[in-house]
Amino acid sequence: MGVDGSARVVWVFVDGLGLAPPSEVPPPTPRLDALVGGPALVDRPLAGTAQGCRWELDATLGVAGLPGTATGQATLVTGANAAAALGRHIHGYPGPRLRAFIDAEGSLFQRVRAMGRRAALLTAYPEGAGETALRYAARRAGAALALGEALLPHLGCAPGSADAGRAAEEAAAMAARLAEGWDLAVVETDLCDRAGHLREGREEARRRAVACADRFLAALRARLGRGDVLAVTSDHGNVESERRGHSRNRVPLFALGACRTAPAGGDLTAFAPWLVDVLAGAT
Ligand SMILES: [Zn+2]
Repeated sequence: MGVDGSARVVWVFVDGLGLAPPSEVPPPTPRLDALVGGPALVDRPLAGTAQGCRWELDATLGVAGLPGTATGQATLVTGANAAAALGRHIHGYPGPRLRAFIDAEGSLFQRVRAMGRRAALLTAYPEGAGETALRYAARRAGAALALGEALLPHLGCAPGSADAGRAAEEAAAMAARLAEGWDLAVVETDLCDRAGHLREGREEARRRAVACADRFLAALRARLGRGDVLAVTSDHGNVESERRGHSRNRVPLFALGACRTAPAGGDLTAFAPWLVDVLAGAT
């Protein structure tokens, strides 16, 4: 629960996690499948369960080419179509124009703050790492930053972790502990996108990355309170696809724990208003 006993949201942003077309078989996600009532990473309608549901969001945003992280994240955090505004998809980190777009549109971090609620980005970054659009938006809004430890971006897939199940459980326990006392707590990971880009060993790497995400998300869900919502989105597909690199596939929006509020739109711009509604307790 959040500080005043109202619904709390933990948002896990998973870079490069799309929905495979029904003709393909994505890496297995047995725990997510059980929570949402069907194949969690296949793009066909799901019934949902009492524990969770999934919607599908268009990540192409009506713009040609392969979606990228900079414009995808900027769209998720502002609720405005950054790719259309800038005329193309932008990969990697935001430049001056995209930063100005985020400032002009305002972010969900600012909206959460205006509601009198508290937000934090839990993911710690190594010194000298670039600043993602998500992190930029959080910093500009005065959200608490980098409370986490280096384990979180790996979701239990940290190098040298022999027991994947235990490592995912530890990462989930850390995330749950750090999320205490925040109304919105955000974790950012590029684990799946990295695996999806590999030229060698991609098949094994993507199965492992998806397995870690599956374990981490289920373990984190189990540690949150009954009224809390674990939201999971992505900026574009990659790891779900049989082909290497970013895809134009739709991406999932998972709500684990409660499905009262559906997004009012079918693309990434629907996420920020949806999240604010969920936090406000809208039904
Ligand atoms: Zn990528």
